[in-house]
Amino acid sequence: MNTVSERPLPAPDAATAPYWAAVREGRLAMPRCTDCGSYHFYPHTLCPKCGSTQLVWTDCSGRGEVYSFTIVHRAPSPAFAALVPYVVATIRLDEGTHLMTNVIGCPPDAVRIGMKVRVKFQKFNDEATLPLFEPAEG
Ligand SMILES: [Zn+2]
Repeated sequence: MNTVSERPLPAPDAATAPYWAAVREGRLAMPRCTDCGSYHFYPHTLCPKCGSTQLVWTDCSGRGEVYSFTIVHRAPSPAFAALVPYVVATIRLDEGTHLMTNVIGCPPDAVRIGMKVRVKFQKFNDEATLPLFEPAEG
């Protein structure tokens, strides 16, 4: 169990367990509808675009762009004190889905909306790995 001074880590539930299992293996996977072809995230039992139940967990490219972001200067808890300033961003993946994460690997003030990024998996322990994003070349 985490103490207040440790970064909160994911607690997978039935809907998100496949996502976190893939992340632990170094893959970014999301449900894809085999009827209309769209990906979606957060996982649902029905395709949010066409209502189909024909969903398959499918690996994503791990590439996308910064859709929105903020720079956190004041840690929300002692667990984040050593990280400030850091970037919390919404990434729009090439597959069209969005997810909230951190942008790492560059100074926070270098992050821009539309900046190309790619996933970088950061392992915290045997149970928890997080998909963070870093600037992508080119
Ligand atoms: Zn669909």
